[in-house]
Amino acid sequence: MAAHTENSLREYFEWFHRNPELSFEEYQTTEKIKEILEAAGVEILPLPLRTGLVAVIRGKRTGKTVALRGDIDALPIGEESGVPYSSEREGRMHACGHDFHTTAALGAAIALHKRREELEGTVKVVFQPGEESSRGALLITESGVLKDVSVMFGIHGVVNVPVGTVAVSAGPVTAAVDRFQIVLQGKGSHGAEPQKGSDSIVAAAQLVTALQTVVSRNLSPLSPAVVSVTRIQGGNTWNVLPASVELEGTVRTLAQEDRKRIAQRMQDLTQNLCSAFDVAADFQWIEGPPSAQNDFGWSKLAGQVALRQGLSAIPSQLYMGGEDFAYYQALLPSVYIQIGIGDSAPLHHPAFRVDPGVLEPTAKYLVALAESALLRIKNSKITE
Ligand SMILES: [Zn+2]
Ligand SMILES: [Zn+2]
Repeated sequence: MAAHTENSLREYFEWFHRNPELSFEEYQTTEKIKEILEAAGVEILPLPLRTGLVAVIRGKRTGKTVALRGDIDALPIGEESGVPYSSEREGRMHACGHDFHTTAALGAAIALHKRREELEGTVKVVFQPGEESSRGALLITESGVLKDVSVMFGIHGVVNVPVGTVAVSAGPVTAAVDRFQIVLQGKGSHGAEPQKGSDSIVAAAQLVTALQTVVSRNLSPLSPAVVSVTRIQGGNTWNVLPASVELEGTVRTLAQEDRKRIAQRMQDLTQNLCSAFDVAADFQWIEGPPSAQNDFGWSKLAGQVALRQGLSAIPSQLYMGGEDFAYYQALLPSVYIQIGIGDSAPLHHPAFRVDPGVLEPTAKYLVALAESALLRIKNSKITE
């Protein structure tokens, strides 16, 4: 990539970083992306998206289509990174590095457009809104824009991995993210006369402890999973036992069978334990994105392309956080690729920062990846 492109990437990145917008409010971000793409002559597809957009680079008509994703939204976090281009919007920050993903995807789209005559097919570059809400990927899939896509690649920065390192391997990378809500309904009484009620606080305390046995007693020790009760609320004074207590929390799993097993065990434990305490229980399970699972063959290609680009390739950094990229993976072969962004505070932390040195190699890598994927599809068709 020419020096002027490198400078432009840095400029775009700093603009996005200074102007973070929350999920589905990325109006100015979308405008900026559009402006940059239009100035470079890149075609934008007419889609019914309020924020986010999909660019298309049409190469040879005989080829298939591959897709790249960059997510564009930021978080409700006040920035404390100290970078000179810090957020200019109070309480908002690109603390997950989506400003980097957006910039790299822009760089790739522009470079691919310049080389479109040699391209063995079509590349769709998805600037996805609302990743942090876990619903943005669904809007993109519902738009139908991925119907003709053979393989999709998404990137995400990973902290404390050197710039120039690509982490990718087949199998799970992020966890399924589910949420549960439990309401225990007992019978309130005077704090001095517990025998006249049925105590939902004692039942809730037992339940919190019992739920922790699901991972340790009902799952294989070789299978990673998390059950976290993150909110517990009941009562409003010191001398009254309340009638009800609410619990809420999250479950993270990598394997689909563990996900089902945990949901069932939690529900059974809740009902049976509460009935032993004479307390009624309502258990709600709210499903989020599944675990991101990388395709075997395409992950291998992603690693090979990294090495060919002079980058290092290491295995995926397994993470029990969620990623709505998993919704794409449920539909088509796809690979979620982690890119080292250097030393930093963790993702979603006010002091999180991305080393801007990652912009140019990532944009170049995405170009090489799209080109190699199209070439691989072409060659496999020849040998079919
Ligand atoms: Zn995030
Ligand atoms: Zn993210």
